[in-house]
Amino acid sequence: MNVLVINCGSSSLKYQLINMNDESVLAKGLVERIAIEGSVLKHESVKTEKKVFEQEMKDHKDALKLVLDTLVSPEYGAISSMDEISAVGHRVVHGGEKFASSCIINDSVIKALEECIELAPLHNPPNLTGIAACKEILPNTPMVAVFDTAFHQTMPRKSYLYGLPYEYYEKYGIRKYGFHGTSHRYVTLKAAEMLGKKPEEVNLITCHLGNGASIAAIKEGKSIDTSMGFTPLEGLIMGTRCGSLDPAVVPFLMEKEGWSTDEVNNLMNKKSGVLGISGVSSDFRDIENAAEEGNERASLALEAFRQRVTQYIGAYAAILGRVDGIVFTAGLGENSADDREVILKPMEAWGIKIDPENNNTRGKQLFITTQDSSIKAMVIPTNEELMIARDTLELVK
Ligand code: AMP
Repeated sequence: MNVLVINCGSSSLKYQLINMNDESVLAKGLVERIAIEGSVLKHESVKTEKKVFEQEMKDHKDALKLVLDTLVSPEYGAISSMDEISAVGHRVVHGGEKFASSCIINDSVIKALEECIELAPLHNPPNLTGIAACKEILPNTPMVAVFDTAFHQTMPRKSYLYGLPYEYYEKYGIRKYGFHGTSHRYVTLKAAEMLGKKPEEVNLITCHLGNGASIAAIKEGKSIDTSMGFTPLEGLIMGTRCGSLDPAVVPFLMEKEGWSTDEVNNLMNKKSGVLGISGVSSDFRDIENAAEEGNERASLALEAFRQRVTQYIGAYAAILGRVDGIVFTAGLGENSADDREVILKPMEAWGIKIDPENNNTRGKQLFITTQDSSIKAMVIPTNEELMIARDTLELVK
């Protein structure tokens, strides 16, 4: 049985076709610049190395058509007909309070997703567009929605409520929702396996450190707090997002610079974070290179980023009480030994001991602390697509 996993952004469509008999990836790729001049599909499959197709795509339906044609192409594809796609799993960013787990997509789910647009105006509309395109092209194939927010719906009220008058939670749903839930859930299950325990027996701190970054406190396998909030802007300093700041900074800046809400939102989402501090790049590799060459602001950006991660780990350890594992995942979390070392260093005082050899091993699931470390830390490559495919299979079975 094959599941097609789809992740639609405003001008992009990422996909993976997974054979669920052995969970192998048959094909994967990315369409970029949908509805923009220079649309392009980058595709690879069991039959072909990366292939690039440049072709005009005026909307997500065009993009999906090209993806499906490529998947069934004798030369580049992986299947001989679309009937070999048993189900489609869609990544959906925001499920609000309506969805605490993945679900089969039907008309009432689509309506509920439309009601969540207000909470994620940039993300949910393209997700819905992708769902509509699939419905049109593959009308008889079941579809499942897997939400970034769902895993964090187990947070207690004391974690998700902000210190605002309660009426704004009731009126507008202003609360912490949390994101990257599929990744935090995937690494939680993997970490439990590595620790030889059931998910409901483990307390973890999971650090998803990529261009977007978030940390979650996992108690007995469930999320009880996370660093991202009402939007993915809260929490850590990220590639281009500022993370948490004194809310008073926002009206202050708007007044001083004469900015509109769009302008200040743009600044906080696209021009801040390590890019804003360093002035070099939003890519941590560029910043690390610049820091090595003596760029002080690049060093400062790294130090500020790393310190926030350490602070969250400390805060989450305090609310969890017992911590069985600290997990590092996503682009930076999986690949940067230096970051992991600096982040964990202050916790030597708690008896956390890094194993330098393991910490310097790349691209593998492994423990990066010594056997006698008081708390284990581990690197677990995340796999959100597989998690989406597993949920999809489970629901359509
Ligand atoms: P993601 O959003 O999970 O794809 O992660 C992307 C981020 O991971 C980018 O900012 C990259 O710079 C960062 N990254 C990937 N590999 C490394 C590495 N070896 N060292 C530092 N950062 C890395």
